[in-house]
Amino acid sequence: MSPISRPPSVPGHPFIAYQADELQVEGVPLSRLAQDHGTPLFVYSKAAMLDALGAYQRGFAGRHAQICYAMKANSSLGVLQVFAQAGCGFDIVSGGELERVVAAGGDAAKVIFSGVGKTRAEMAQALNAGIGCFNVESEAELDVLSTVALGMGLTAPVSIRVNPNVDPKTHPYISTGLKGNKFGVAHEDALRIYQYAASLKGLHVVGIDCHIGSQITTTEPYLDAMDKVLELVTSIEAAGIPIEHIDFGGGLGIDYNHDTPPQADALWQQLLAKIDAKGFADKKLMIEPGRSLVGNAGVCVTEVLYLKPGEQKNFCIIDAAMNDLPRPAMYQAFHAIVPLSITAKPQAIYDVVGPVCESGDWIGRDRALNVAAGDFMAVLSAGAYCMSMASNYNTRGRAAEVLVAGDTARVIRQRETAQDQMRGEQLA
Ligand SMILES: *Cc1c(COP(=O)(O)O)cnc(C)c1O
Repeated sequence: MSPISRPPSVPGHPFIAYQADELQVEGVPLSRLAQDHGTPLFVYSKAAMLDALGAYQRGFAGRHAQICYAMKANSSLGVLQVFAQAGCGFDIVSGGELERVVAAGGDAAKVIFSGVGKTRAEMAQALNAGIGCFNVESEAELDVLSTVALGMGLTAPVSIRVNPNVDPKTHPYISTGLKGNKFGVAHEDALRIYQYAASLKGLHVVGIDCHIGSQITTTEPYLDAMDKVLELVTSIEAAGIPIEHIDFGGGLGIDYNHDTPPQADALWQQLLAKIDAKGFADKKLMIEPGRSLVGNAGVCVTEVLYLKPGEQKNFCIIDAAMNDLPRPAMYQAFHAIVPLSITAKPQAIYDVVGPVCESGDWIGRDRALNVAAGDFMAVLSAGAYCMSMASNYNTRGRAAEVLVAGDTARVIRQRETAQDQMRGEQLA
């Protein structure tokens, strides 16, 4: 046991900070929210989301651009509402996500539909809603989409996702732009597939898109991918198929653990220079950021249930688990974990684990913490790919969510009950 040390300042979280040794989101102390609403509890800062969005908006100032929030990062209605009110479109990957956009007041015309496995029913739903673009990922999908659209007397606006074969140097599960993964069409096949798309009566080619991966923390993969995409735009247009928009996907990383991703506006300054140099300055630009808009706008507040000293390890058992925070179990991901109140307690090294009956249920390993049972802690960088990936494993209800704006805190999702979970089930 060593003397107490001050927890690190909250890395990359501009609106989450200690005030008089109490962790606050904007003007609201987290311990008050934990007491009022129970734990585990996700708390998001509206100002942090708008601040992250602002970096992209500055990057596109004076351009014809559309920012489509990739809502799979966090699809809670109260979060979608923030982006809808800020004028964003949405990148969706299912018909369910489209229903959420509509419920949150989003504009269907600003929706783009990504994903390798769209069903006929989802295509029809999206055509009925009048979405802006289908980002198609295979020739087989082009055929089916054309048939569905013709059957409805419509034409579907399409973009084809091209796979630029660049290595984003991120975790293999979130790397999507390399040969050998299921996404997009190969660069060398793209022109032929565009010609095929242009020949189908139910389709109208409007754009080109790519998305090379997630949690990208360097500029180079983006620059390389942009070169590849612009090369294709030139050859597709030379073949007589006009490309109205270039959609460059998402993937920009955030600071989880002393990561230093490029700032969105600085990155886009470099990318726009490439676009302009190729003579495409007048093209509409679209992007699909997810994690970088919400990841560091949120924390998960949890209570320490037990400290359990062990022969090889000490365990800090908390009331949040892999069903709430799946990223460590899925990707060995790192989330910083800090106490809500800085107090004089002895420090020890713990594995921070949840109550779920799996050894994979860990949230942090070998963490130096000054905590006692009953204390609250915050798992940081929990705004993206946490609640939207949460499950009911172990019949654990999904956590409640609160959106903070200034001094006000609003519940945007009630804690899920066992009754909620059993809805739709019946005894045989
Ligand atoms: C997941 C995804 C995104 C968003 O990725 P982030 O890393 O969260 O920015 C964008 N586009 C597509 C097609 C995706 O699958």
